[in-house]
Amino acid sequence: MNFKVPRGTQDILPDVSWKWQRVEKIIRSICDVYNYKEIRTPIFEQTELFQRTVGDTTDIVQKEMYTFTDKGNRSMTLRPEGTAAVVRSFVENKMFGYADQPVKLYYTGPMFRYERQQAGRYRQFVQFGIEAIGSDDPAIDAEVIELAMNVYKKAGLSDFKLVLNSLGDKESRNAHREALIAHFSPHIEEFCGDCQNRLEKNPLRILDCKVDREHQLMKTAPSLADFLNEDSSAYFEQVKRYLDIAGIAYEYDPNLVRGLDYYNHTAFEIMSTSKGFGAITTLCGGGRYNGLAEEIGGPAAPGIGFAMSLERLLLALEAEDKAWTDEPSLDVYIVTLGEEARTTGFELIGRLRENGLRSEMDYMDRKMKAQMKSADRLDADYVIVIGEDEVAENVVQLKNMADGQQKKVALDQLLEELQK
Ligand code: ATP
Ligand code: MG
Repeated sequence: MNFKVPRGTQDILPDVSWKWQRVEKIIRSICDVYNYKEIRTPIFEQTELFQRTVGDTTDIVQKEMYTFTDKGNRSMTLRPEGTAAVVRSFVENKMFGYADQPVKLYYTGPMFRYERQQAGRYRQFVQFGIEAIGSDDPAIDAEVIELAMNVYKKAGLSDFKLVLNSLGDKESRNAHREALIAHFSPHIEEFCGDCQNRLEKNPLRILDCKVDREHQLMKTAPSLADFLNEDSSAYFEQVKRYLDIAGIAYEYDPNLVRGLDYYNHTAFEIMSTSKGFGAITTLCGGGRYNGLAEEIGGPAAPGIGFAMSLERLLLALEAEDKAWTDEPSLDVYIVTLGEEARTTGFELIGRLRENGLRSEMDYMDRKMKAQMKSADRLDADYVIVIGEDEVAENVVQLKNMADGQQKKVALDQLLEELQK
């Protein structure tokens, strides 16, 4: 029997895993600079958590969740996204009581959605996200957006843009909601079943429908922009002002609607503008969710965050032809010839590694030439050759691969020589 990786998932093989580690390193260092601390939550949660927070009318809850009943007859779901669990943990651990507010958290880890596989869309994918909970200062909205933009910048991307909208507060959204219902109701039978359900539950989500995108009524739908009340408009102006101060350009899109039901005010996406990128251009999505903590039984705690997948970041690098190719090289490769040289080499490599030098040697009992080829492939900076003569003399041949120079070095002076 042949086994295959499950559809929609992938093995991250050793020749690319270093790229993942590098992205993760960039992420961690940026979060560190912005003072976001890591939080690690379980891979699965009670199903109801996602129904409540992501929302019953979303694609995620309706179609994409990996839900199972455990042996205790509880409905559990592999997390499809990160915000729900982070806010759950915020409430459960009473982080609203922390002396320093807002509480600034980040996470990276696998998420699971039962989706149709295509480029940039997987059933298991890795998301990096941050959440700032406890403040409704528009400056923190700008901080969150800036952090996301910096990840792409630091990764080396240049063809990406920020798209921004405001979903307004509850009052604005309710007014807009009424207008949407009035707009779509007379012709709702021309829309898909999902949209018919959404009409009463959450008509805003009709605008985000992938099936009815081209329907005439979509183009003439009442825009949220016309329903923002004074407070909401003022808030949005402040967010834009802070983005200006940060020197971040944005494109305003009044039709940008985000996934979660509980988003309000700021909503944004970062999109790749590279010609080489496929149909799915969204790299990152985020927004403000002021009612979420209350929705799951906590106190009022306004929050904002985003999530991006590392898969799409790496795809965007490829699309821009900037995929990293500079895999970290080896410091030293030790070529040994014969039993005794092997013993000396083995003892030596231990010392080199102890001193932080990335080192490798032959374990296949190969000829000199084959060992040299390995050293080449691994891009070793130095090759050390140990044969019978070298063992007898307590020396090694040290070859600098950059200039091809080779010299004899005493064993006990080797480390010093390499560290020069
Ligand atoms: P889309 O409209 O592409 O389905 P979404 O609205 O479902 O996106 P979010 O839930 O906002 O996406 O997730 C945030 C980010 O996570 C996306 O911008 C994208 O980078 C990434 N993402 C979402 N789903 C997938 C997936 N199936 N595979 C890889 N990355 C994904
Ligand atoms: Mg989706």
